[in-house]
Amino acid sequence: MSGPRVAERYGLSDDELTVRAWAARLAASLAPDDHAWEERAEFPWKEYRRLADEGVLRLTCPADQGGRGGSRLDAVLLQEQLAARSFVLTEAVHVALNGPAYAIARIGDPRLAARWVPRVLSGDSIISIAITEYDAGTALGDLATTFTRLDDGSVRVDGHKCFVTAGGLADALLVVGRFGGTGLEGLGAVLVPSNTTGLVVESTWSKMGGNAIPEVAVRFEACVVPPENVLVAGEAGSTQGLRDTLHVYDALRLGIAGICLGVAQGSIDRAVTHLRERTQAGRRLADHQGLRWTWARLALQLEQARLLTYRAARLADEYGFPPATETAMAKLAASEVAVAASEAAIQALGWRGVVRHAGHPAERVYREARGWTIAGGTTESALNTLARELFGK
Ligand SMILES: Cc1cc2nc3c(=O)[nH]c(=O)nc-3n(C[C@H](O)[C@H](O)[C@H](O)COP(=O)(O)OP(=O)(O)OC[C@H]3O[C@@H](n4cnc5c(N)ncnc54)[C@H](O)[C@@H]3O)c2cc1C
Repeated sequence: MSGPRVAERYGLSDDELTVRAWAARLAASLAPDDHAWEERAEFPWKEYRRLADEGVLRLTCPADQGGRGGSRLDAVLLQEQLAARSFVLTEAVHVALNGPAYAIARIGDPRLAARWVPRVLSGDSIISIAITEYDAGTALGDLATTFTRLDDGSVRVDGHKCFVTAGGLADALLVVGRFGGTGLEGLGAVLVPSNTTGLVVESTWSKMGGNAIPEVAVRFEACVVPPENVLVAGEAGSTQGLRDTLHVYDALRLGIAGICLGVAQGSIDRAVTHLRERTQAGRRLADHQGLRWTWARLALQLEQARLLTYRAARLADEYGFPPATETAMAKLAASEVAVAASEAAIQALGWRGVVRHAGHPAERVYREARGWTIAGGTTESALNTLARELFGK
């Protein structure tokens, strides 16, 4: 990268530069086998635990809970570097750094945190997030999963979730559902261990990409969990529970943006290298203006997404949760450039772009990237958030 150094360009502190450099070294030291993991739909537990041993999963967790106390931006910097190298490992790390375990560490009951956070930081457990239902995707007001308080304070969970990433690998699921009320009122979040009586993992799907970390449907039939498993309590007549739940979820959304930055950068790097090296009819492909402009524009789009993502991360509150509007902008921009760059890379690489082969990752990377404009809230949903800012409702 020419021009101002990374530190000045992005206003990174010495500590942030250290995290970035550590992540870059770590990424370079990985020997990921994403092609095989994808083809075999196999979660790379060994490599995941190696990253845990390196302290990767502890990065954002508060120091008093065994973490390294890193910031939201530290997580983005780490994921960006890792994702350029291994989508599978980065997505796995993402769930630990930004997902339910992080939220439990920051705002959960201390008993819940003591039980679950160490297991996630060590790489022994994964906690998934279960929001989506067959009849309620974008429309959270349609969620039908119910949380019923029992006389002793424990909570009964009934519902049917679908498309839960890593749900079949997880030891617990953070379930979003309804304590009462209708529509957007009464929603909250409760942790349900996977071995709870009445929890049934139902099915799995083969996706166009990202099969090393598969999705499942999960049915909850009269699952009872103790009171401390309530992460966000909803109340009938109030939308505060929804706001608190989405605030927690914004850490995950921003993590997706971080992954997408790395995916886009990796695609740009591979395509540019190819265009510089390949000559046709005596001319380097990189000397054709049409091709150059394609990649110049994508590099610009990536830079815009990066600045939006870093900004949202810097604006995170004292608990490390980033603001909704800025996160929506970042996630939208980063996921769109990840899809655009990985798609354009296929064209730039010719036949090498379409083959399914370990040495030619372009088509796999595109298949992996494609879901990110849907996962974590769709592009249209993010645009609705931004439009509400513009139009007032
Ligand atoms: C790779 C991947 C991983 C996922 N992981 C998880 C997970 O771990 N946990 C989980 O709970 N869910 C997960 N999901 C599900 C994801 O959150 C939902 O797919 C998403 O919220 C959209 O819901 P839907 O698929 O039901 O689409 P729908 O809500 O039915 O929407 C279909 C289309 O209509 C558009 N649309 C809907 N409403 C509006 C509107 N009001 N205005 C404009 N356009 C609209 C949408 O943007 C979309 O393009 C994952 C999805 C993917 C692709």
